[in-house]
Amino acid sequence: HRNGAPVLEVKNLSIRFGGLRAVDDVSFTVERQRITTVIGPNGAGKSTLFNLVSGALRPRDGQVLLEGVDLTGAPPHRLQRAGLARSFQITNLFPDLSVFETLRLASQILEPPLRAWQPVRRSTIAIARAGALLERFDLAAKAGHKVAALSHGEQRRLEIAVALAGEPKILLLDEPTQGMSHGDTEETAALIRDLAADVTVMLIEHDIGLVMSLSDHVVVMHQGRVLAEGPPAAVRADPAVQTAYFGH
Ligand code: ADP
Ligand code: MG
Repeated sequence: HRNGAPVLEVKNLSIRFGGLRAVDDVSFTVERQRITTVIGPNGAGKSTLFNLVSGALRPRDGQVLLEGVDLTGAPPHRLQRAGLARSFQITNLFPDLSVFETLRLASQILEPPLRAWQPVRRSTIAIARAGALLERFDLAAKAGHKVAALSHGEQRRLEIAVALAGEPKILLLDEPTQGMSHGDTEETAALIRDLAADVTVMLIEHDIGLVMSLSDHVVVMHQGRVLAEGPPAAVRADPAVQTAYFGH
């Protein structure tokens, strides 16, 4: 990577929906190999921030830099090629595809440009990659099952595997434990910790216990703005955060 630039820099990012400042002059940095968590009450602008960073929305003002390269306003596929992957708050998988096919298709993104005379080699790489992801995400026993037949927790796990298939530099996870049982939440937390050894993770998370145990850095959003940021314990003790987020 280039000259030690942080994986992601967000500078003065803003977007409005009508009169609503959904993301309002937001700046922060995501350092390599640190788990950065965005927290804040419902409607704070967290998902909108992820949409801006991943190219799903264009900001009205501000910049998004990936490893020092300005990719503000670039379309999602370009950001993906530059090394940014994301999962969605609402599941985004094809229900009728098998688990294996889902991962094989996701893995094709890694392959070199199409060459008509290389069809076998191309499919071999994707198949091997899909197999490795099945193992890593503990989905091998479900390889032939349709996505629709998976449990909620398994589907969320598969989504993370899909996002990881392109070997991104940074992985954005929007509420990866939403709707999960306590057991699945713990498993997902362990998985995220494990992933963080290879890829920089930025997530949105509501479970404050998980935020405290998982994060290296926390960014607190409130009404579109960054209210506080820092190590989890410091942020939690911040009086402004206590008032706005924990309600006391
Ligand atoms: P969070 O993820 O923190 O719960 P969101 O980013 O989803 O919050 O939403 C922030 C605010 O922007 C909310 O008031 C929401 O209703 C509004 N909003 C989000 N997306 C849109 C949109 N596409 N059009 C209009 N308003 C939106
Ligand atoms: Mg959201």
